[in-house]
Amino acid sequence: MTTKPTPPIDFSLPYEDVKPRFHSSEPVTISREVMDQLLLSGVEAITDKAALCEAGRDWWPISLQWAINGMTTASPHVILKPTETKQVSSVLKICNDNAIPVTPVAGRSGVVGGSVPLLGGVSLDLTAMTGIEDVDETSLIVRVKAGTFGPDLESELRENYHLTLGHFPQSMDLSTVGGWVACRGAGQYSTRYGKIEDMVVGLEVVLANGEIITTGGLAPRSAVGPDLTALFVGSEGTLGIITSVVLKVHPLPTYEKRAAYGFPTFQAGLESCRKILQRGATPAVLRLYDAAESNRHFGSGETNALIVLDEGDPKLVDATMEIVESECRDALDLGLEPVAKWVESKNDVKALASLTKIGITLDTIEIAGRWSALPRIYQDALEEILAIPGALVASAHQSHAYLDGACIYFTFVGKINPSDHGVEENSEEALKLNEAFYRQAWDSVMSVINRHGASISHHHGIGINRARYVKENLGAAFGVLEDLKNTLDPVGILNPLKLGFSSKLGSVDFS
Ligand SMILES: Cc1cc2nc3c(=O)[nH]c(=O)nc-3n(C[C@H](O)[C@H](O)[C@H](O)COP(=O)(O)OP(=O)(O)OC[C@H]3O[C@@H](n4cnc5c(N)ncnc54)[C@H](O)[C@@H]3O)c2cc1C
Repeated sequence: MTTKPTPPIDFSLPYEDVKPRFHSSEPVTISREVMDQLLLSGVEAITDKAALCEAGRDWWPISLQWAINGMTTASPHVILKPTETKQVSSVLKICNDNAIPVTPVAGRSGVVGGSVPLLGGVSLDLTAMTGIEDVDETSLIVRVKAGTFGPDLESELRENYHLTLGHFPQSMDLSTVGGWVACRGAGQYSTRYGKIEDMVVGLEVVLANGEIITTGGLAPRSAVGPDLTALFVGSEGTLGIITSVVLKVHPLPTYEKRAAYGFPTFQAGLESCRKILQRGATPAVLRLYDAAESNRHFGSGETNALIVLDEGDPKLVDATMEIVESECRDALDLGLEPVAKWVESKNDVKALASLTKIGITLDTIEIAGRWSALPRIYQDALEEILAIPGALVASAHQSHAYLDGACIYFTFVGKINPSDHGVEENSEEALKLNEAFYRQAWDSVMSVINRHGASISHHHGIGINRARYVKENLGAAFGVLEDLKNTLDPVGILNPLKLGFSSKLGSVDFS
């Protein structure tokens, strides 16, 4: 298996004149002696200026906007690209002994700034750690190196073993197994296969001091204390570096069925989704688009379109789709075309890039809540976004459903006209105006979520962008997370200033 590079999406940074958007209050330095030690660890080291600038962005729309306009969020001093776990261990030990920040980086498809090296130091690029290490075809368990890109893993499973992981994020081509686990991601077929945390059964992790540990992976269930694998799933590189992942896989499905229905209101569609899940049916794809999104994707007019697709054993799929049909009996039958359109475009990632390039501010906000809270969350969030000056569009769909609730995925679009504020187009001030709109949109949706007692993220994670909302969302339990961080990473080298943590190594003024 070869390393699959991130597909070339050209944001054309003019690297000659790059200004960092954020400055650390206490800039990190790496002495010549420490740099020599790092270089001697045998890890490939990259110090080329263009590569360092490029390492300052992921797919967080704000970092993309700065990149397009010649700014980098923050550059690392060096990019290190290990191929083996023991190299990761050597690098971490050196960095820990010398208080050098280490930001783990994989596909850089994260949308919240998680892999942006805010305090500089080392960007630890894990994409050279690739390949399936072991397959237990009897137990349907696979061990894979963390830097393996999605299509490489899935095609090897399919072609050589007739298996599938069942994890298909929209960003499949851009993202890695380690990134999925670190962000606690969700694939688009999650209603049958689960989120990544339902698939991970064990991990190999390198701790901040260089120690290598393994968690779980030996048995389907355990009662040997709390689940240590779960501790690192969703930790976004702040508690340890994930180097290898043990995953549950499934036989390749031999059968598939599709359907699409139209509902007069989004709320009526949500109600049908709830009933389907609560009768025990888990169709792989069960996505409900509000009227604005339905029309945008499927040209379906005023209706709220529900897309359903299931795959697997024919008897299970038939029974599942029968339940779906009976719970959608009062809805419009939209035929199979909307599902075909959805399948065709499900990994298309061009829209975000192209709109960002023309100065439109847009983003998606995925949250999760109970069925009882979702109708109000949907209504309140859309109203609050549309009340912000500069807002052009606010819409939503339900993308992942469970027995007790679902994920609602909001999209907002806005543009502040710089001339209304006496500011030049494409200037730093114009970018900051758009950024202020962006922050306001996020603040308003996050306050709706906290008001309704829901989760502020379903699968994109926290990174930089959501860091300011974590304390309120977790309440006093955030103190437990901080204690864990301080115990596992006492010097504070791992991905500083992410996941809502402050850092002992420096701070950044985000205003
Ligand atoms: C167009 C688009 C569509 C998307 N669709 C989806 C979707 O359907 N579902 C979904 O869940 N997400 C989606 N995402 C978000 C993103 O792809 C995921 O968050 C993905 O899991 C990130 O993986 P990555 O390999 O790119 O990690 P990166 O972006 O490089 O890193 C993400 C975070 O994980 C940490 N990290 C990465 N690797 C490791 C490791 N080995 N050990 C420790 N920490 C690590 C980084 O420090 C960072 O904090 C989408 C993104 C885009 C741009």
